[in-house]
Amino acid sequence: MKNMFDLSGQTALVTGGSRGIGRAISRMLAEAGADVCLVSRDIHACKDIAEEIAERTGRRVASFQCDVSIPQSIELAIQGTIEKFGKIDVLINNAGIIVPKPLDQLTLEDFQKVFQTNVFGAFLVARSVVAQDMKPRRAGKIINIGSIAADFPRAELGAYGSSKAALHTLTKAMAIEWAPHNITVNAIAPGPVKTDLNASIWQRPELFKSFVERVPMGRWSEPDEIGALAVYLASDAAKFMTGSIVKIDGGLTLSGNMKIDAGSTK
Ligand code: NAP
Repeated sequence: MKNMFDLSGQTALVTGGSRGIGRAISRMLAEAGADVCLVSRDIHACKDIAEEIAERTGRRVASFQCDVSIPQSIELAIQGTIEKFGKIDVLINNAGIIVPKPLDQLTLEDFQKVFQTNVFGAFLVARSVVAQDMKPRRAGKIINIGSIAADFPRAELGAYGSSKAALHTLTKAMAIEWAPHNITVNAIAPGPVKTDLNASIWQRPELFKSFVERVPMGRWSEPDEIGALAVYLASDAAKFMTGSIVKIDGGLTLSGNMKIDAGSTK
């Protein structure tokens, strides 16, 4: 009998697969047996990672250039993935950006840029994958990468936190509308993960220490730990799970001490 966590025969599309969490998710989906297409704005980085993962796992791994804030670019990447692999079983909406600024310095352009990538990008990719492939085949798993910042506002992360709150709500709306088509939609809400996104914190030992002290588990997460959860949500083991926002934060949001001084993320 097939292992419930086995992804062989499945194809996954991962946005923002060039580094950080998306790179770890891409590799771990391939290790679980999936063929993977990873996309981001930096095609050279994507190609390198795709080669590395293919060599390590023996799976088919493709890459395309895609800026999720540009609808035309999304369509080309989705068409490319379907041409290459024939279908998309798993979509990981991972591409995300942060513009850390106090609200009184945040421009409308900053706000729009964050929403265009973190919310509208995820929406457009999902809408197109569902219409072109998942709905006609009556099968699909969508995993949006949200954040605990959605529910725990922090100084300077007003645009980012609100974009992730919107993504969490969008996840639930997608889950309701697409459940009749046998498509599940869940979100992962990580706490702090050591990646380029927050290198300005973990590269400063004193500042990092003050952040880590607030986490009951006493550390930040590694990207692979988010990858492991994505593999579970992409697998048959999670086939009755939809509309869930799954936190993975080492207990940080239980600690009641999320406050970070304004200016500390710079
Ligand atoms: P990262 O290391 O900065 O990686 C971000 C990825 O998104 C890169 O691959 C980047 O590739 C891609 N990307 C950014 N804008 C894009 C666009 N317009 N179109 C296509 N790809 C784009 O950040 P990360 O920490 O891995 O973050 C991944 C996701 O996890 C994000 O959604 C983030 O909000 C979420 N998250 C992270 C943390 C954390 O602590 N690190 C916590 C909670 C949630 P290119 O630059 O090549 O385009």
